[in-house]
Amino acid sequence: GLGPYDNGNIFARILRHEIQATLVFENEHAVAFNDISPQAPTHILVIPRGAYVSFADFAARAGDAEISGFFRAVSTVATQLGLDASGYRLLSNIGDHAGQEVPHFHVHLFGGKPLGRMLA
Ligand code: 5GP
Repeated sequence: GLGPYDNGNIFARILRHEIQATLVFENEHAVAFNDISPQAPTHILVIPRGAYVSFADFAARAGDAEISGFFRAVSTVATQLGLDASGYRLLSNIGDHAGQEVPHFHVHLFGGKPLGRMLA
């Protein structure tokens, strides 16, 4: 696994405003910002404010209101960015086999062009 939550991870630092990010959405449940190395015309990262190392940790430890609020926020970001009509993709890497680089749970949101068929 990823071990205990590391308060020094880059997304924790973005949440504390210690490093800059281009925010596109923020509420009590979630913060969304542009990926620093975009892999599509729209490439957003959506993160919960709470300290969870991965989706698995979030699903196991977050409260129901936190979980629903987070996923509702992901949907709101997609809507506000105008991605609903043409579609978009969500992805979350969990742990070593998925190549997770930042140990704070995040959902990638990709869109803005046809993305091609990609299941793994
Ligand atoms: P992972 O492999 O953990 O799912 O993806 C981490 C993502 O975070 C990558 O797409 C990477 O480009 C992005 N990222 C890493 N460091 C930073 C940063 O300092 N700022 C922003 N905005 N994105 C970052």
